[in-house]
Amino acid sequence: MKSFRLFLLFLLTPVLACVGAEKIRVSTFSSVLTEVAQQVGGDRVEVIGHVKPGSDPHDFEPKPSDLRAVANAQLVLLSAKHMEGYVGKLEEATGTKGVIIHVGDQFPSLKLSVQHGDHSHDGEDPHWWHSIRNIARATKIVRDELVKLSPSDKTTFTANASGYLAKLEKLDAWVKSKVAELPRDKRKLVTNHDAFGYFAREYNFTVMPIAGLSKNNQPGSKKTAEVIQAIKAAGVKAVFSEDVANPKVIQEIARGTGAKFGGSLLSDGLGNGDRGTIEGMFKHNVGTIVDALK
Ligand SMILES: [Zn+2]
Repeated sequence: MKSFRLFLLFLLTPVLACVGAEKIRVSTFSSVLTEVAQQVGGDRVEVIGHVKPGSDPHDFEPKPSDLRAVANAQLVLLSAKHMEGYVGKLEEATGTKGVIIHVGDQFPSLKLSVQHGDHSHDGEDPHWWHSIRNIARATKIVRDELVKLSPSDKTTFTANASGYLAKLEKLDAWVKSKVAELPRDKRKLVTNHDAFGYFAREYNFTVMPIAGLSKNNQPGSKKTAEVIQAIKAAGVKAVFSEDVANPKVIQEIARGTGAKFGGSLLSDGLGNGDRGTIEGMFKHNVGTIVDALK
């Protein structure tokens, strides 16, 4: 009988080993962080991206199904910088089981000078992912959190993160060389949503936002006239809209200034198709901006 029990144990050992290698469950509320978590975690993680590429993170509200997934997650990654106004609901859902990481709060914020009563922004620019340096910071934060959750995978996570950081460095070099096609006095970025502050600081642009923080806040006619004057005075060649915003106002401004409509940019996270990766987002945005302003 005893030897039979030992035999059973022998049969069960590989099964137990498999259970031990169960994937780490990660929930993210940023399409950018979804990519980062997948790249660093590789096949050791199961990542659920609650805010889908092409959707608006400012308007997102978690559904009961999102909260159930969060309750089951070991790691919850937030954009932070006041983007997730619903963070209280997530904290309630996780209880003490999962760890919530406010990724964006771990690096410095740009202040926003324009405010139009959108409480979720709170004067702190949440759009940190338009700086590749910030995405690299986020990558290291995610790596360290995954290592804490599964120390035995440290070698894997460290190697994955290093490989991904090298890719980001290459992308940053591409952005710099593309932007270098534009002389400094042509680096003026007019959009209908103040989302490119980190991008502007990193690559020496001046931003001239029209509607302030929220894409749903359309400027009044007085404001529009002021913006048209400022754009004319600055000699801006092209103005831009966003994928998830109504381009009507920006087109009106283009008509009023004689500047051309340069196309739409991805401001609030990844897009769809070949714009559905961080590299694709930067190639689209930087290509659109530089080609229209040249
Ligand atoms: Zn935004």
